[in-house]
Amino acid sequence: MADTIYKIIPESHNFFPSDTKAIDGAVNILKTYIKADSISWEGFENTTFIDCGSNFELVKCSHCGANISEELWQEMMSRCYAESRFDNLNIYLQCCKKTSTLNELQYIMDCVFSKFVIEILNPVEPPCNHDVYEASKCFDKLKLKMITARY
Ligand SMILES: [Zn+2]
Repeated sequence: MADTIYKIIPESHNFFPSDTKAIDGAVNILKTYIKADSISWEGFENTTFIDCGSNFELVKCSHCGANISEELWQEMMSRCYAESRFDNLNIYLQCCKKTSTLNELQYIMDCVFSKFVIEILNPVEPPCNHDVYEASKCFDKLKLKMITARY
């Protein structure tokens, strides 16, 4: 059976709380609102590309909306990883000769970069914005966002 995982991540790609209790707190808040197979979090030493499973289809330029080929995207991914372990996500887009970041590209289905991710596996009901907002209170003024992954 296919799994659906709702992934909650901070809006800032290289944010990681000084105390991981903040993430535990957010997980506990989500558990009070959401019934799911599991709710857990994972942290990464470096900024990591958070994929959306088979939902990943298309990447577009954040300025002009031109399609970015998978080949070019992979190349930009490799370069940013090699140069800064994804700490710096700046890229140059040939299509409109402007700079952007890997995080600002339009991912159809919203893939993102982050240093930690809270994963909600197969919830009975999709988590709502309210749940995400309540969880974000564990991180002061930092906003959280949610993507949906299918495998
Ligand atoms: Zn462009």
